[in-house]
Amino acid sequence: MRSVHGGPRLLLRRLREISAEPVNAQARLDKIVMQIAANMVAEVCSVYVLRADQRLELYATEGLNREAVHLTTMQSGEGLVGLIAQSAEPLALSEAHEHPAFSYRPETGEEVYHSFLGVPILRGGNTVGVLVVQNKVRRTYSEEEVEALQTTAMLLAEMIASGELQSIAKSAELLALNGPLSLKGAAICEGVGLGYVLLHEPRVVVKNLLAEDVQAELRRLDTAIDAMRMSIDELVAHGHRMGVGEHREVLESVRMVANDQGWLRRLREAAMTGLTAEAAVERVQNDARARMQRQTDPYLRDRLHDLDDLANRLLHQLTGQTYVADRDSVPENAIIVARNMGPAALLDYDRAKLRGLILEEGGPASHVAIVARALGVATVGLVPNITSLVEPNDAVIIDGSTGDVHVRPQPDVRTAYAEKARLRARRQEQYARLRDVPAVTRDGVAVALHMNAGLTIDAPFVHETGAGSIGLFRTELQFMLAPRFPRMKEQYQFYKTVLDAVPDKPVTFRTLDIGSDKVLPYMAKIDEENPALGWRAIRIGLDRPGLLRLQLRAMLKASAGRDLRVMFPMIANVAEFDLAKAITLREMELIRRHEHGMPTKLELGAMVEVPALLWELDQIAERADFLSVGSNDLVQYLYAADRDNTRVSKRYDNLSTPVLRALKSIVDAGDRAGTPVTLCGEMGGRPLEALALLAIGYRSLSMSPASIGPVKAMILGLDLEQARLFLASLMGSDEGRHSLREHLRQFAAANGVPL
Ligand code: PEP
Ligand code: MG
Repeated sequence: MRSVHGGPRLLLRRLREISAEPVNAQARLDKIVMQIAANMVAEVCSVYVLRADQRLELYATEGLNREAVHLTTMQSGEGLVGLIAQSAEPLALSEAHEHPAFSYRPETGEEVYHSFLGVPILRGGNTVGVLVVQNKVRRTYSEEEVEALQTTAMLLAEMIASGELQSIAKSAELLALNGPLSLKGAAICEGVGLGYVLLHEPRVVVKNLLAEDVQAELRRLDTAIDAMRMSIDELVAHGHRMGVGEHREVLESVRMVANDQGWLRRLREAAMTGLTAEAAVERVQNDARARMQRQTDPYLRDRLHDLDDLANRLLHQLTGQTYVADRDSVPENAIIVARNMGPAALLDYDRAKLRGLILEEGGPASHVAIVARALGVATVGLVPNITSLVEPNDAVIIDGSTGDVHVRPQPDVRTAYAEKARLRARRQEQYARLRDVPAVTRDGVAVALHMNAGLTIDAPFVHETGAGSIGLFRTELQFMLAPRFPRMKEQYQFYKTVLDAVPDKPVTFRTLDIGSDKVLPYMAKIDEENPALGWRAIRIGLDRPGLLRLQLRAMLKASAGRDLRVMFPMIANVAEFDLAKAITLREMELIRRHEHGMPTKLELGAMVEVPALLWELDQIAERADFLSVGSNDLVQYLYAADRDNTRVSKRYDNLSTPVLRALKSIVDAGDRAGTPVTLCGEMGGRPLEALALLAIGYRSLSMSPASIGPVKAMILGLDLEQARLFLASLMGSDEGRHSLREHLRQFAAANGVPL
């Protein structure tokens, strides 16, 4: 077995010297491949660079025909080089021609070479090129040689990332690293944002790749590993004292990974090739990230994630670079890119400068998503690998209603979105002008539009949107964001702040709706087979009346001297409502006896979101002061289709005969009993759905603040009697039982109803 001439250290040193020479990029690259070939005793050394069009282009070669440089290209996945790019893994073959992926390129003259060693050039786990050496004789490359070539590839990655190679690109082809990229994620908060990348956790930039003293670097690495382990041990111990159940499990698993001998060995091996400790960590992290992107097993992905976190910890330790972006120096038009972030972290940024938020892991139900929606920041979640695909200050466009993200967009994409953003802004202005215009249909029917809220920062929107009231205040959000169960005083203060912010309009508080996807981090998690059908909402409230009473007391006290409206979530039958009402009245009585300030009036409502209640509508309408339809849950239970599971949630349409009949029966029962009915699920905020709801009898809708303008604009253009007749005939016929959407859309278009 032949070993590397002078070892990788000498090669790295030589390459570093070449990097500093004042020559143009092509000459530098030519020198580099010559040097690598000589050092590795190979006849051929070639560099392929990945372009934005996903083709690999031969950028330099020693040994193959020079004329092929910038001419030979291949698709990622095509031939051996394409295979390496796609798999992001090294490939060593003693007879390349025998490999099924081998594809012969006559212009390169490579037929005389038998053995082949190629490694991906990785940056942040993404392939940006491929580095290859070839030999005429059949030979087996040693692990040491593979390792040395991978280390060398790091230097090339740096050269590609520096933008130097862009200057020698033919026909203005952009390199993948600098080129435009369109990604798709989950739509979380609508809005179009054009801006520049701000990494929430700035990536550690390893500038010093080459070790002066290998032993010293190994010692630095060991010290950093020890310090990292100690900090994790501390976290585990600390977490344990606080009784943080699930959190502790996560830390335990991270601790286990931190002691993974294979990982520690790979770090040391990388350092022994002549890299600095931090460059060695980056090398190993690159490989892990590349594997993570291709890993489909969720368990193994999690482990690789843990490794990535640990590598980040080590990098921070070794370079002393800070962990979080400097909140005070947020640039204008910032689009935050984060793997994930806590809700409080988002509140730390200056809202005025934010144009958007892109999350790699956070989905629509994550807490930061809730806060993003409350702040009205255009947000896309679940964007695979985004944190390693962008560089700070890259131009980026985000469309929060479609989930599209365009990184380094082409000018025409930019123009199109800028136009879209302008249009949106103009429409927002039109909606703002409607603020004080009553929502009355063309044929004179008044509709009450209310607003859904959940945080104190939402309250000012009542005035901005001209909403009639806060029709649904989801109190659980405050509980979800708190570090522990909020005490009575804290809850009191919270409700009082909300009420004080809206002195002139009613607020309908909903009692705690936790369970299912709404988990309180400090409450022991119960494993349930079907959490959506499990112990949640009012069921917890009735079984743990202490919690419910505490909340009710805080609300009652906070409402001293004004009216209070409270509703209970997930009421499944009349008996549950009676119980909840009895608990509330007892609290009220206690407050009265202690001569505390009392609400001037107390109204109690039931949410209609469990189908069983549809067969007790007259009874519930008799007992409750008002009803509020939670169509999000009601529809998921009616269709037995999880509202958060996109595979099934789009399968059925709210605008179908069965759903509309169910919804109509509720409003009809309300009318019979003279009990007001409001619908507060998401469908009420969509103009077309709102049209159908008005047509079946709803006169009160509660929705997110951003929806009030569009729904009001629809109402102002609607002849309701005409819509009622149209929908009634549709629901009475056999047509479109699965979905009436298209029919309704056509009706709106034909009658000039703005949607
Ligand atoms: C609903 O279910 O429609 C509702 C308004 O409540 P939530 O979305 O909070 O479950
Ligand atoms: Mg609900």
